[in-house]
Amino acid sequence: MHDPHPDVLDRIRHLLEVRADGAYGLAGVTQKEHALQAAWAAERDGAPEALVAAALLHDIGHLVHELGENPAAQGVDDRHEALGHAWLCAHFAPEVTEPVRLHVAAKRYLCGAEPDYFDRLSPDSVRSLALQGGPMDGAGQAAFLARPGAADAVRLRRWDEAAKVPGLATPPVGHFLRHVAACLRPAADGPDAE
Ligand code: FE
Repeated sequence: MHDPHPDVLDRIRHLLEVRADGAYGLAGVTQKEHALQAAWAAERDGAPEALVAAALLHDIGHLVHELGENPAAQGVDDRHEALGHAWLCAHFAPEVTEPVRLHVAAKRYLCGAEPDYFDRLSPDSVRSLALQGGPMDGAGQAAFLARPGAADAVRLRRWDEAAKVPGLATPPVGHFLRHVAACLRPAADGPDAE
């Protein structure tokens, strides 16, 4: 079958295999290992394909800016969930993009709603949480849960937090790109459209 987006898959592969070789915040894994561990957790959890793709791509916003590898250490919130959402919206449906957009809000939700969730955060997550607005209060939690995609974002956020295990073996990027390819939007009208 004709693939309308060979360039998009190539870009994603490049971002994950080359650009993502940098450290992930303060955890002992690279961005690439973090993405693969999150996607692998989603797949083992029986998540639908779009959510596996979202898990793989949830931090792609960190890879498409030029703020350095760990802006949170400088007290800068890189707004990676919004950057990633904007980047992905050109190519994917909301089933993929909304959990990415909401995964930081999901962390703030879980810290407010589950008393022990904060205690289990990695040091890099604690640091970025303060920059991102801290735990949600009750009104914030209710507003969050009313948003489409909130439940998927909470699932994604749990895989995210678990995906920081130094040395954990996962399948390679190519294994997960088939999920990504299956979720690509049909080619939109563009300069090359007939
Ligand atoms: Fe993450």
